Amino acid sequence: MTQTIVDIRDLYVQYRTFDGQAKVLNGVNLTVKKGEKVSIVGETACGKTTTVKSILRILAPQASIPRGEILFNGSDVLKMGYSELNKLRSSGASMIFQDPTMSLNPVFTIGEQMEAVIRYSGQSGVEQKSVRHELAVKALEETAMPDPERILQSYPFQLSGGMRQRVCIALSLATPRDLVIADEPTTNLDVTIQDQVLKILKQRVEAKGCSLILITHSFGVARETTDRIYVMYAGNMVETAPTQELFREPLHPYSRALMSCIPRLSGGGMAEGIPGRLSNYHNPPKGCRFAPRCPEAMPRCHEEKPESIDVGREHQVACFLYDKDGGK
Ligand code: SF4
Repeated sequence: MTQTIVDIRDLYVQYRTFDGQAKVLNGVNLTVKKGEKVSIVGETACGKTTTVKSILRILAPQASIPRGEILFNGSDVLKMGYSELNKLRSSGASMIFQDPTMSLNPVFTIGEQMEAVIRYSGQSGVEQKSVRHELAVKALEETAMPDPERILQSYPFQLSGGMRQRVCIALSLATPRDLVIADEPTTNLDVTIQDQVLKILKQRVEAKGCSLILITHSFGVARETTDRIYVMYAGNMVETAPTQELFREPLHPYSRALMSCIPRLSGGGMAEGIPGRLSNYHNPPKGCRFAPRCPEAMPRCHEEKPESIDVGREHQVACFLYDKDGGK
């Protein structure tokens, strides 16, 4: 049986705000197997980043987790002490953030930052500067970075946005990891280099045999990069399936609405978008959070929260329209 790297069960996260508690995550379930590449797709502010930050326990101080479990290689992240958390962050999982400029320290060279990360990993031999330097050069070479020695002596401001993000990819994979989390890693880059950076990320993750969680609002990016897609709406995973199957047969009304927004080269008119807006997290709908925007909502949808059910092999959907056999 394939090893499970991440197993999030029934996770609730809320944020303390001036207007009261914002109940963002509403019982999230997510599983990532060893070597699996998974994406989380959904609108801005639907809880994607909160979900992955929970895995590393790097949520903002005003966040709290009233319920749920996050297992990383079988250990409960929410019960980890300081040293276990350090180990998780230094050698278990790494995260590539949206903005590479904010991820890198402007007053240290790339070499100083890479060597610090490599040293922190605790891998054997990294106490020696020559080993750290060698690993840093190798990691940069693996991301197709020209002249790694020069890059190591450069400060972040001396590199382009695409190069900075490639440095972040190199940083996240310079030492062995079980999981890489990439939070919209190409959003702040020029369109011309987005594809190149994604290809490098995918290729490096595959070469190292680690798992990937990619956050994106683009189904196209998810399709190109990952094996499985989780569709997220207002703090709930509303559907998950292997990538090809989800594209062949999206079941949840929100997944179908998102798919209808993808522009097609063959034409067919402009997408209309999804009417309405994301629910208010301070006072979310009692039942299905998509009900106020769902064209197929029934009275029951406004009262009860739909649970996720199996509708096929590795295909789950949380919607009252489906029974366990996937029929309507
Ligand atoms: Fe629409 Fe009801 Fe399904 Fe929610 S549970 S997506 S409101 S049909």
